[in-house]
Amino acid sequence: MPKTLIEPFRIKSIEPIRMTTQSERVELLEAAKLNVFRLHADDVLIDWLTDSGTGAMSSRQWGAIMEGDESYAGARSFYRLETVVQRITGMNFFVPTHQGRAAEKVLFTAVCQKGELVPNNCHFDTTRANLEVLGVEALDLVIPEGLQPSVIHPFKGNIDLARVESLLNAEGDRIPFGMITVTNNTGGGQPVSLANIRAYSALLKSYGKPLIIDACRFSENAMFIKMREPGYANTPIPEIVREMFSYADGATMSAKKDGMVNIGGFIVLRNEEWREAVRNVLILTEGFPTYGGLAGRDLEALAVGLDEGMDEDYLRYRLRTAEYLGERLAASGVAFVKPTGGHAVYIDARTVLPDMPIAHYPAWALCNALYLEGGIRGVEIGSVMFGKRLADGTETYHSMDLVRLAFPRRMYTQSHFDYAAEVIDEVKQKAATIRGVRITKQPQYLRHFTCECSWVDA
Ligand SMILES: *Cc1c(COP(=O)(O)O)cnc(C)c1O
Repeated sequence: MPKTLIEPFRIKSIEPIRMTTQSERVELLEAAKLNVFRLHADDVLIDWLTDSGTGAMSSRQWGAIMEGDESYAGARSFYRLETVVQRITGMNFFVPTHQGRAAEKVLFTAVCQKGELVPNNCHFDTTRANLEVLGVEALDLVIPEGLQPSVIHPFKGNIDLARVESLLNAEGDRIPFGMITVTNNTGGGQPVSLANIRAYSALLKSYGKPLIIDACRFSENAMFIKMREPGYANTPIPEIVREMFSYADGATMSAKKDGMVNIGGFIVLRNEEWREAVRNVLILTEGFPTYGGLAGRDLEALAVGLDEGMDEDYLRYRLRTAEYLGERLAASGVAFVKPTGGHAVYIDARTVLPDMPIAHYPAWALCNALYLEGGIRGVEIGSVMFGKRLADGTETYHSMDLVRLAFPRRMYTQSHFDYAAEVIDEVKQKAATIRGVRITKQPQYLRHFTCECSWVDA
């Protein structure tokens, strides 16, 4: 048997990459105020900023797009997608939204009150921001292993049930529901076990609290369960997915991830209680409940994509991709979150740049270095994204400073990964010369998207 796991698809339509030189990139990054979010995508060779909405759609999806029913109310495309989502999740109430954060905003606005508190393994940045803007506290309770990049654990995304229990005892009346993010994006794309979801759900239930799944990468999570959790090796992915959702009372989803589409999201709910409030907010901000901010064609592409995302050959290749880059990094002595997650590899910047003070944002600095060296765009998941500037001018820092290289689905081939491995190796050898940054201008929320920086040594 050949050892090489091939991409389980052929390429039917291509997009050229515009090549740039290192000296061009120096100017381009300066013009972008040392913030890779501000670069033009055309100036990036390998764009691993995010796996969100950036993947390639299949010929079946493009075909389905022509079937889109653009009726304002009651479109055929809505009912087609509703049937798929109900079958996959086992939940009855479904509304589309234009993306994941819209699902969060609609649900939280409908059901949360100021002063409340929501536990999660790790809140994604938009999830946290959407709670905080409503005056709700977002608490991250991932197991301790989940915050230690070098510690190997099969399910580093698990939530710490003992801490959840003491929280329920101490602050129970402030908690409207518990959340769990699969896979745990902020904590390294790490999976959550079925045993953990089951126990978390039972614990919440014993205190009368519902469980909401942040389901962005439910298929990748299910594949990890199949590969790692005892008893599931022979269970088909849709069955694992169905069991995962069986413990939840609702879910928010960014379909731009495992929905395999370029735009879209949704809310599903099992319980009756919140439906009317959710529908009311949805109509106010997203649109009529049968389109929720999407075109009929988007609903069609998603109805196909959700099933394609659960294909086992695809998932095996998908998880292997991250693992492969991890092996290349290990060979170069570059520290990263182990084991590799589903959609991304997270480089541990504090270890790669041991001499850089955290106040100079090592992961941000490493992101800039990867762009300058090889035109690769990753994203900082660290103290720019999650730190805060306080009123007295001091800062809080995140528990880790990671560079996430997130892989668009079905887009890049093995040679792109080989190239990236060489670039990262080069950057690691130049570690002592990598320059830290200071933030010169920042907005109040989600500062990483738009902040402006300068070099600390300039
Ligand atoms: C992407 C993502 C979101 C937000 O979804 P958008 O479609 O980007 O608005 C929420 N939670 C997690 C875990 C995500 O990865």
